[in-house]
Amino acid sequence: MISEDLFNEAKKFLPGGVNSPVRAYKPYPFFAERAEGSRIYDVDGNSYIDYCLAYGPLVLGHADQSIIGAVSKQLENGTAYGVPTENEIKLAKQVVRRVPCADMVRFMNSGTEATMSAIRLARAATGRKKIVKFEGSYHGAHDYVLVKSGSGAAGLPDSPGVPEDTTKNTVLAPFNDEEAVAKLIESEKDEIAAIIVEPVMGNIGCIPPKKGYLEFLRKITAENNIILIFDEVITGFRIAEGGAQEYFGVTPDLVTFGKILGGGFPMGALAGKRELMEMIAPSGNVYQAGTFNGNPVSIKAGLAMLKQLDSSFYTTMNSKGQKLRKGLEDVLENNGLNFHVAGLSSMFQIYFKEGDVLDYKDAKSADTQGFTAYFHKLLEGGIFLPPSQFECCFLSRAHSDEDLQITLENVDEALKVVKK
Ligand SMILES: *Cc1c(COP(=O)(O)O)cnc(C)c1O
Repeated sequence: MISEDLFNEAKKFLPGGVNSPVRAYKPYPFFAERAEGSRIYDVDGNSYIDYCLAYGPLVLGHADQSIIGAVSKQLENGTAYGVPTENEIKLAKQVVRRVPCADMVRFMNSGTEATMSAIRLARAATGRKKIVKFEGSYHGAHDYVLVKSGSGAAGLPDSPGVPEDTTKNTVLAPFNDEEAVAKLIESEKDEIAAIIVEPVMGNIGCIPPKKGYLEFLRKITAENNIILIFDEVITGFRIAEGGAQEYFGVTPDLVTFGKILGGGFPMGALAGKRELMEMIAPSGNVYQAGTFNGNPVSIKAGLAMLKQLDSSFYTTMNSKGQKLRKGLEDVLENNGLNFHVAGLSSMFQIYFKEGDVLDYKDAKSADTQGFTAYFHKLLEGGIFLPPSQFECCFLSRAHSDEDLQITLENVDEALKVVKK
């Protein structure tokens, strides 16, 4: 069946035809048949250079041979045990060695679980209820963090079914704004358990922190006994060996991981300082559990992944990213457009607007219709980006110079459409 027919069929059995909302772009998404390296192939016979990369996990590209090898061996030895394995210790040691704030790790299944558990732990450790999150940040799909972005200081639920009793404890602040956070803490410091932040915002396009901003958050949280949580579900193992905390030189109290850590398989993790982590059951009484926690297949894939992510990997990815962003800027200039090219390391996005993007409000002023036209034009040419102005695009090790060249030529063509 072709994608269009599959989508019509899917809608009968899956809400909206998909299993996660962002996948359902109009008029219908392509259905994948297979993927390899930098390419994804659809059931209609097309191939695409992939910059979505499953929304972040695939830093080595699709179907990396070393991961396939490691996982195949594990499959023959069983897929779930419900008892501990030595490999869990090995992966935990890898995380602890790389990540500055990590003394201990709890493995789970998704980034959503990781942020939910981090917030519970922060509340238990401080005896306080409120958390601060930034407008436009995404920390997964659970009730504590599904708060309408940009709705002001009070937490209004983003979805029906989320009680206001829950989200009233979630306080919003604009990203990159020191004064707003200082004011919030001034008035509510005795109630705030944690600040949770994506050190590089990756769910509203791509917004790096202003110089000194993460340092500011570290200082003001430490002074007020507030726990600082870095949500590194995207940046973890992507922008440096030790993630954003190494890249920017700022060490939080807790960190959440997902995406890359499972080597392309489902995985999430919470890590942090020993005195906090030891509060987690069974060594402490803060409850966290999961049938598939530390799943041997995901753990094996994670080990195979991390083995390849050494410092030279990050040097290469940083220069590949720089080269692409520079190329995008040149193509924009050739087309007489002043759109903002955002990103760092292997993360990038073009904002369809002029001028800097420092927070949610700036991002939201972009021309989303223009972006959608650009997305579709690129898709026609065999380039797959995440289908939204407010997602981040990713590079993998598998993306070649030739891939980048083809991409820039297609972007040039696509921008001509958008300009009209
Ligand atoms: C993707 C993402 C999550 C949620 O992870 P899932 O594995 O999809 O539950 C949380 N935080 C950030 C920053 C993310 O990008």
